[in-house]
Amino acid sequence: MTNKFNSTVANLGEFGLISRITDSVKNDVNVITGIGDDAAVTALSPNMQLLTSTDMLLEDVHFRRSWHDPYRLGRKSLAVSISDIAAMGGIPRWSLLSIAIPPHLSLEFIDNFMSGFLATASENGVVLIGGDTCSSKAGLIISVTIMGEQYPDLIIRRSGAVVGDDIWVTGTLGDASMGLKLLEEGRGDFPLSRLLDPTPRVFAALALSESRTVTSMIDISDGILADYGHISEQSAVGGLIYLEDLPLSDSFLKQARCFPSIPYYMALSGGEDYELCFTANCSNREKIINCMKKSGIQVTRIGIVTNYSKVDVLNSDGTNYRSDTDGFKHFK
Ligand code: ADP
Ligand code: MG
Repeated sequence: MTNKFNSTVANLGEFGLISRITDSVKNDVNVITGIGDDAAVTALSPNMQLLTSTDMLLEDVHFRRSWHDPYRLGRKSLAVSISDIAAMGGIPRWSLLSIAIPPHLSLEFIDNFMSGFLATASENGVVLIGGDTCSSKAGLIISVTIMGEQYPDLIIRRSGAVVGDDIWVTGTLGDASMGLKLLEEGRGDFPLSRLLDPTPRVFAALALSESRTVTSMIDISDGILADYGHISEQSAVGGLIYLEDLPLSDSFLKQARCFPSIPYYMALSGGEDYELCFTANCSNREKIINCMKKSGIQVTRIGIVTNYSKVDVLNSDGTNYRSDTDGFKHFK
């Protein structure tokens, strides 16, 4: 007999696990054929285009099982993918979940992981329509594919920023990075939800897209410097970012007192905030502020798009801020 204490993924087997997952997925009218056949069948809304993105989360590269409880790991696995659809102004719809699982992982872990994943799915109108399941000899490996849809003229790319546009960000920056640093130091006295349970800014992004005010957009996964850097490259523009205008949370500022000076580098180059960075013509300032007020999301103007070929960060006295790090890079 299996129970909470002796049941592992190996006891249940691949097909047992797939049917366990299938049982926890709700039917959805927009999914014609979901989990169970060789491929899923879905119908796009008339005149919309398909947006697709995929992300991998590897144990000990992107998460540690000792830090990330399975429920929030499940939530985050899908949230980071949904954030990519949001960053395009898309409506998230369908997801595929591929997992390679160490055989001795408990079923309780997988059950909690799946409840987190499916909670984030239902909060964002996403349905799980398939995936792949196998065993892993090298830790837990999670791969999530997300699909969304949108009318062609409401899709926002990285390539549309125009010289003179304002640069905006939602929410606050650096909280995930501060959380990670304090976790590494073994301190739990900082709110870790931004790191462990990020909220994809779907509704704010859709409101922005529908307002037709935004020229380019990206989600901030590797720090504003690196991510605005992508907008700057793909739009062939530069940028000025004002250090003092970066939005910092109260809890970030409180922790910052323990540092010799405010650790702006965390806000500039820390990963995993999953806020939005976007550009818009300065004539749209009021529209954007009102639109974000309705969404209940903080929004801050942090700089301007320039015609230089680089992105500069300025101190309040107009001198250049020097930073020795420019975002998280793999293979560094
Ligand atoms: P195949 O061998 O044809 O690839 P599988 O046995 O891998 O089929 O999968 C059977 C069904 O279960 C498919 O619909 C697949 O999409 C789904 N599936 C497999 N693993 C998962 C998972 N981790 N999450 C959701 N659906 C899954
Ligand atoms: Mg398969």
